[in-house]
Amino acid sequence: MTYAEVIINSNARALNRIFDYIVPLDFEEKIKVGTRVFVPFGNNKKLEDGFVINIKATSEFANKEIAKISEEQSLTENNIILAKLMARKYFCNISECIKLMLPPGTGGKELENRAKEKTGSFVFLKEDIEKIDFLINTGKIKSEKHIRVLNFLKENDGIYISDLECIVEVSKAIIKTLEKNGYIEILQKQIERNPFINKKIEKDKPKVLNEEQKRCFEAINFCIQNNEYSKNLIYGITGSGKTEIYLWLIESAIKENKTAIVLVPEISLTPQMVDRFLARFGENIAVLHSKLSIGERYDEWKKIESGQAKIVIGARSAIFAPVKNLGIIIIDEEHDMSYKSDMTPRYNAKDLAGYLAKQNNCPLVLGSATPDIEDYKQALDRDISLYKLTKRANNMKLPEVEIVDLRFELANGNKSMLSIKLQKEIQKNIENGKQTILFLNRRGYSTFVMCRECGYVAKCKNCNISLTYHNTGNKLKCHYCGFEMSSLKTCPECESKKIKYFGTGTQKLEDEVTRIFPKATKIRMDIDTVSKKNSHEEILKKFKEENINILIGTQMVVKGHHFPNVTLVGVITADSNLNSEDYKAVEKTFQTLVQVAGRSGREEKGKVIIQTYNPDHYAIEYAKKQDYDLFYNAEIDLRKKLNYPPFCDIILIRFNGENLSEIKTIANKVYKKLNDINNNEFFVYKPVPSPIDRIKNKYRWRIILKCKLTSNIINIIQYSIENINLKDTSIVVDINPNNMM
Ligand code: ADP
Ligand code: ZN
Ligand code: ZN
Repeated sequence: MTYAEVIINSNARALNRIFDYIVPLDFEEKIKVGTRVFVPFGNNKKLEDGFVINIKATSEFANKEIAKISEEQSLTENNIILAKLMARKYFCNISECIKLMLPPGTGGKELENRAKEKTGSFVFLKEDIEKIDFLINTGKIKSEKHIRVLNFLKENDGIYISDLECIVEVSKAIIKTLEKNGYIEILQKQIERNPFINKKIEKDKPKVLNEEQKRCFEAINFCIQNNEYSKNLIYGITGSGKTEIYLWLIESAIKENKTAIVLVPEISLTPQMVDRFLARFGENIAVLHSKLSIGERYDEWKKIESGQAKIVIGARSAIFAPVKNLGIIIIDEEHDMSYKSDMTPRYNAKDLAGYLAKQNNCPLVLGSATPDIEDYKQALDRDISLYKLTKRANNMKLPEVEIVDLRFELANGNKSMLSIKLQKEIQKNIENGKQTILFLNRRGYSTFVMCRECGYVAKCKNCNISLTYHNTGNKLKCHYCGFEMSSLKTCPECESKKIKYFGTGTQKLEDEVTRIFPKATKIRMDIDTVSKKNSHEEILKKFKEENINILIGTQMVVKGHHFPNVTLVGVITADSNLNSEDYKAVEKTFQTLVQVAGRSGREEKGKVIIQTYNPDHYAIEYAKKQDYDLFYNAEIDLRKKLNYPPFCDIILIRFNGENLSEIKTIANKVYKKLNDINNNEFFVYKPVPSPIDRIKNKYRWRIILKCKLTSNIINIIQYSIENINLKDTSIVVDINPNNMM
């Protein structure tokens, strides 16, 4: 007899185990590790679907037979190996990892038939996500089916109506009700089966590489030609020709009949960026990102699987693209935090890329102007091959950076958010017909609201977070859960009318700019102005084409865009991250400042003004010099002193739930189990509330461990969190999290 270990395709905790099934004789030849199977389960009439993760000759438990198999929807054995490895390393279910490797919308029976259709009804969210969350959290939307649809749409806005019916398993009537209630809208839309079809892109020929580029290309190309794994870091300032090297390497891989995966941060996956690959390689390309509808994603996925597309460009999850005969993996802007997932499975795409490159005997290439501290250390330690590009390909000099000390502005009586220096430069730019970008990483109008009489601060009723004032609609909003209320006229505690609005956001900055430069044209870009009607792309296009004087924006303005006419960038406050508890906060500040600065003076001499209360901080000082190496030296010393990554890993065990006393009990149990087993192998901090100790009415506690994440440590952590009776509390383990809050 043959038996199969099967993982059921479900996130239900009770099903998160391996189940043994008997393999009927008919299937014996066909069933492999990775085969998709349908199995009877419990007393259910409906078959459950799952995947075979192991085949064996004996079983103590198997008493039911596999009912059906689906060969064409199967995974490879390597997929299963990777899923198992991820589940262990990132403390999650195998089924959650498998999901990342399946074709988009698996379960949607109609997907394939629809490939022929030309138009269809698509469902969009009509309300803000924040508002929807608020209505759900406050029980205004109760129906479990309604909530399922809305939650699904939050991540898959613009989905084909019958996909929605299939995937979320609701009837059309439910969708119509939501439309009637005004939460969603249904629009007729052209189905764009090939996003490139109408584009005429001029063919682009490879450039002749300069010496530095050539040395790098030849070394990495050697690995492509000889099927050798290697890990490489290209460290070169923006415009130094990194992308040109990627293009050469990809071309070489394709010539060898191999494939390539290129990861880029979601936000820089712009049409301009994709065009550059199209211009070189034609339609050999598949693009994967979250803005595609499920149908479009499915099409791209099929193009890759069938071998029609040889090059995959995509955000983090494109690392799971079903490529065959992989010849190279490239990770651009490799320092970007978006390669680490903040949701279960909390994987790091860079680690997985390393694993896949080894498995496929091919090179992995990381590229950045401000490499991740951990990767740069590996490069200096010679665990990664380092290639430096020191010149800009078009010989443009980096912009000149000036620091303005905000403490003096205040002392000199300037209460504006714009220093005198910055105001003068903006004025000059307007007069010369040049463009300016103003960067401020906080949205809204004022960041908190306080009573000057008694010190009361307005906080969210669901989260332990102060509310942000938004002048559109005159509201106080919670940026975590979407709760909103009208702004305060009197203090709810002492009834004083002395309510004061502190802190600044992009809305206030926009007002301020209007006040000081009434005639200038301006445009604002943050989550509040970017919506499906007014996309990120469109705002940037308008800014460029209409030669708008000033672009005001959050993080969104930082990455990857090329504005030839921008000669001034102003950073309103560089400090917002410097005092954060996250160990990566300083590194992030430095990277952001260098990147923002890089928006200025792409084609003619540019200027950058950084306003700060901490002009002596090393991140600011070295950002002014645009000197990564100096920054690295200072930062790595500090990391060593404080025993932070890369000298150890930070393992965060988080406990979330509505019942505070249960959380405390469970956290203490885990802490005790950890301590009992600890043989001086790791350092563990006592359970404490997280800095933000309540979000969406859920309390949040945490335990932090510091040590290298070895196989033994993984076992210890597994042991400490298993067999604990969780009623209301969930436990999440996050390795080197982006966010400690
Ligand atoms: P990066 O990716 O480092 O920002 P790019 O590869 O985009 O740099 O190069 C910047 C610009 O210089 C691009 O317009 C590119 O076409 C051009 N370029 C790159 N390498 C060369 C080269 N060897 N000769 C001429 N132009 C080049
Ligand atoms: Zn008061
Ligand atoms: Zn809230």
